[in-house]
Amino acid sequence: MINLLWLKGGACGGNTMSFLSADQPNVIELVQDFGVRIIYHPTIGLEIGEQVKEILHDCLEERIALDLFVFEGSVVQGPAGTGSMNIFADRPMMEWVALLAPKARYVMAVGDCAAWGGIVAVPPNPTESTGLQHHKKQRGGFLGADFRSRAGWPVINIPGCPAHPDWMTQIIVAVATGRIRDIELDEWGRPRTFFTSFTQTGCTRTRAFAKGRKGRFGQRDGCLYYEVGCRGSMTRSSCNRILWNRTSSKTRANHPCLGCTEPGFPHHDLKKGSVFKTMKYLGLVPREAPEGATPLGFFLKKLIR
Ligand code: SF4
Ligand code: SF4
Repeated sequence: MINLLWLKGGACGGNTMSFLSADQPNVIELVQDFGVRIIYHPTIGLEIGEQVKEILHDCLEERIALDLFVFEGSVVQGPAGTGSMNIFADRPMMEWVALLAPKARYVMAVGDCAAWGGIVAVPPNPTESTGLQHHKKQRGGFLGADFRSRAGWPVINIPGCPAHPDWMTQIIVAVATGRIRDIELDEWGRPRTFFTSFTQTGCTRTRAFAKGRKGRFGQRDGCLYYEVGCRGSMTRSSCNRILWNRTSSKTRANHPCLGCTEPGFPHHDLKKGSVFKTMKYLGLVPREAPEGATPLGFFLKKLIR
C-alpha cells in the first residue's frame, strides 16, 4: 500500500479531470487493486477545513508516511514572493510545497504548470508562478535544481495540458508496485517510456509531411506543420501511440499539436499571431524545423523534391 497526497496550486483542474478519466487502470482500480491510498485530493477528498490541516500535519510530522506527493498547477509566489495569492489551509500553498516535498519518497508534477510554469507563467506572470523544479527551460523552479525526494529522485515531470491519464496512472502504479526503479527519466525529468518518441510517431499524416502537402484545420488530408503550426515533429509525447480515450489525438481530430509536453510551452509565449500559425522567416521559411534539421535545410529539401 502507498499513501498518495495530491495538492493543487495555480491550476485549472484539467489534470484532475484527466486523472479521473483514466481507464487502464481507473482510479477505483488504483485504490482497490494497487493499494493506492489517496490520503487527500482537493476534488474528490471528503475532508474539509481542520481535517485537511490534520492530514497535512500528519505528513509533516511523519505520522503518515508520504510515499507520493502529486502536485497540480503552478507554484504561486506572488505578490512579491509572499505566495499569499494562493492560500491553502491557513498558509501560502508554496509553504506547504516547500515543507511536504522533502518528506515525500517521490514527488510528481502533473501538467505543464506544475512541471514548468505553463500558461500561467507567461510574462508578465502576475502571480509569479513557476514549476516545481523548472521554470520553462530553466532548471530550478520553486524547489531548486538540486532538490531530491527521500528516495533520491528529482521531481518526476508528467507534462501536458493536460497530461494524458495513462502517463499519470502508470507512474503511480510503478510506485505502488515497487517498480519505479525501472523508469528512466530524461533531461527534463520526464519518464522516457512516454516521452522519447515524437507526437508524430503514429500520426496518420506522415506521408503528407514527407511530401510537403499542406493541411488545414478540419481537413483530413495534408500535414498541419506547414501552415497551422503543428509541433508534432519536435514534441516528445506518445499522443499518437497511446490514444486519448483510446480513440483519438489532436492530429487525428484535425488539430495541430501545440507542443504541450515540452518545457517551452506555450511556445512564443502566446504572442499575437503565433498560435495555430506556422511562424516563418520572410513569410516563407518555417522558423522551427523538425528535431535534428535546420529550418533552411528542411525548407530547401522540400523545395527540391
Ligand atoms: S507535423 Fe503534425 S500533422 Fe504533420 S505529420 Fe507531424 S504530427 Fe502529423
Ligand atoms: S498532441 Fe501535442 S498538444 Fe496535444 S496533448 Fe499531445 S503533445 Fe500536447
